[in-house]
Amino acid sequence: MKAHSATSEDAITSHGIRLTPQRRYVYEALMEKRDHPTASEVFMRAKARMPSISLATVYNCLDALTESGLIRQVYCERGSSRYCPNLVPHGHFFCKTCGVVFDVPIDPAQEASWEFPEGTQLEHVEITLRGLCPACAQKQTTSLL
Ligand SMILES: [Zn+2]
Ligand SMILES: [Zn+2]
Repeated sequence: MKAHSATSEDAITSHGIRLTPQRRYVYEALMEKRDHPTASEVFMRAKARMPSISLATVYNCLDALTESGLIRQVYCERGSSRYCPNLVPHGHFFCKTCGVVFDVPIDPAQEASWEFPEGTQLEHVEITLRGLCPACAQKQTTSLL
């Protein structure tokens, strides 16, 4: 496979979204550490580079980036929404103990095996998986001994 060196600017312009410096900082804050941060975590990271940015601006940028399809909003039952820049089809695993969220790749071929009423148009797949992350599972096993 050829090395891919797309910059955030390439990605942003290819999605037809106007690149403002604020949007770029917000997008880069998501790309630098792919740990599904909440809006306030993104705000802290963006603020480190652009001290004048406000939380309201961060929310606006996140909305614009989500609408353009460049990032995904991840809904959590408890707590604030998180944001994910991974555009490859994937589900989200939530650790019920430490709250860590990680991506789980999904084989698109699986969707072919789902049964829908005839005429259904599938537009969006949101897969949530819950359990214990490896670190928490390990702790639980050792505490039971
Ligand atoms: Zn994700
Ligand atoms: Zn955990």
